[in-house]
Formats: sequence, C-alpha cells, structure tokens
Amino acid sequence: MIVKKLDPILREVDEAIKRCLKAEVDSIGRIQAGDWGENEFEYYARLIDSDEIRIFHHIRIAYRGFAFQIDCLILTPHFAIIIEIKNLKGVLTISNEQLIQNVDGRQSRVPNPIAQVKTQSFHFMRWLEEHGIESYPIINLVVSTNRRAIFEFVEPCEEARQMYVHADNFPLKFRMLEIQNPANLTQSNLNELSKTILASHKPKYNNTLEKYGLTEDDFVFELKCQACGFHLMTYKKGAWHCDRCGETCKDCHVQLIRDYLLILGRGISLKECRQLFGIQSRNILRNLLRKMNLKLVGNRKSARYFLSKK
Ligand SMILES: [Zn+2]
Repeated sequence: MIVKKLDPILREVDEAIKRCLKAEVDSIGRIQAGDWGENEFEYYARLIDSDEIRIFHHIRIAYRGFAFQIDCLILTPHFAIIIEIKNLKGVLTISNEQLIQNVDGRQSRVPNPIAQVKTQSFHFMRWLEEHGIESYPIINLVVSTNRRAIFEFVEPCEEARQMYVHADNFPLKFRMLEIQNPANLTQSNLNELSKTILASHKPKYNNTLEKYGLTEDDFVFELKCQACGFHLMTYKKGAWHCDRCGETCKDCHVQLIRDYLLILGRGISLKECRQLFGIQSRNILRNLLRKMNLKLVGNRKSARYFLSKK
C-alpha cells in the first residue's frame, strides 16, 4: 500500500479520493484473493488452500529502503513457505551450488534458485524479527512448473533435494511438512501478520497516476490558508500571508511541494514552482526549495527538484 502517496492525494480532490481508495482497495483485494498471475502454480496452490493458511502471490515487501519480491509466500500456523517458481524445460542438472539447464544438447547455467530463495528468506526473517515474530520456521522451496522438466541431482545436493519440487508434487510435500512441524502461530497471529504484510506490500508501479487511472488535471495544487481556507497567500519578507484573514506562516509551502512531487512523480522545475506560488524571484524560489533538502537533477533550464530518498 502506498500510504505515503495516498496521504497527499487524500488532501487534494474529493473525486480523486474515491477513485484512489477504490483502486487501492481493489489492489489489496486482488492480493488477498491471490493474484494468481500466469504461472501454473496457481492450480497447485489452490489444492492446499484452506481457511487455516494465507497465500500471497508476487508479494513485494518494503524493508529498510528497498523491497524484496517473493513469487509465492504461504503462511500457515506451522511455518512460512517461500517459493521461487521456475518454468524451465529440459533436463535440469541440480546441485546445491548451481543449476544447469540442458535443452536439445545445449547447456546453459541458470541463476541459482536456491541462492535466490535463500536471499528472500533471509530478508523475510529479518523483517519478521523487526515485527516481533521470532522462531517461526521458514521453509524455502523451488517449485518447477514445467511438466516435462527432469531433475537430475549431482553432489553436493542434499539441500537441493529438500528444496526442489515439481509443482504436481507440491501438495504432497506441503502435507508432509505440516506433519513434521508443530503449529506455533494462532489464527489471530496469522491475521495480524497478514495485515502487516499487506501494509508493507509495495507494488512495482513507477507512475502513481497511471496506477489510479488519474491525470494531472484531476488535481488542484493551491496554497491554502490553514486558518480560513482561502487560497490566495502571498510571500512577503520570508513568510506567507493570507490575503483574507491575515494569517501568516513560514513553511506552509513545504506540504504543497511534497504533495506535488509525490503525486506527479516527475519532479518540479523552477518555472512550475513559480506558477504554483506566484513568486517571480528565482532566488526566493531556489531558497525555498533548497531548504527542503530536495535532490536536484539536471542543470539550468532542465533542472528539476525531486524528493530525496530517505
Ligand atoms: Zn486565511
């Protein structure tokens, strides 16, 4: 969920609010229902689905300034399963360290799915710890969805044998794991955890407006007086003054610029800033922007200010 981006949108336009919320709710609904995607795994995951477990497809969890994506994350009272899905054809020569694909006599090395799933698992474990969940087992699996793929294990492969599974064997593997691991989370723990995961889910959208089906015209960016709501504020001697009620404030432009940058996602030029605030002096505008610690990209007329990443 993009609360950070949704928040300024909420302040802007009533109509936009409804559409944004609808889009956001729709997007959460899709995740909850299982955004099955195109892969074959959909069918096999449905075979194990029950009220006891939660399945997330293509979840992308924001964590410490980056995000890690998991093809399929399954939460059960017994354990979490992180699944890396592969749809490779041919004979797969598998060891702990590498995966070689052999198709029609041609060999190629594929990025090792074991390393991929273990990296995600590591991030997820750290993320869980930060959310107060410890000693919840995480099981890593690599599921092959290509029905004709043949596994050929070569030493060292103990770990690989545990982790690789053909999609049609997945339901059986899942039941075995359930038997081997005692339950240690309650349904209310799971509900809580699911909510937190959804709140941390950061879909990979580059353009917020596109995501919500909005255009820039759906937004009105105006500096409004906090006291009376009037929109003509003028900048004099280092502060904003309301032309109607006389209220003054020093930094009420900050929120408006932040909203502008967050919503439009394309930075702001000095010229746009001038139109936004009706200030003619480039020096004053530069000063206001400089104090906000924005990132300047480009130079001279092409220069645009962006929010700097925290
Ligand atoms: Zn006012």
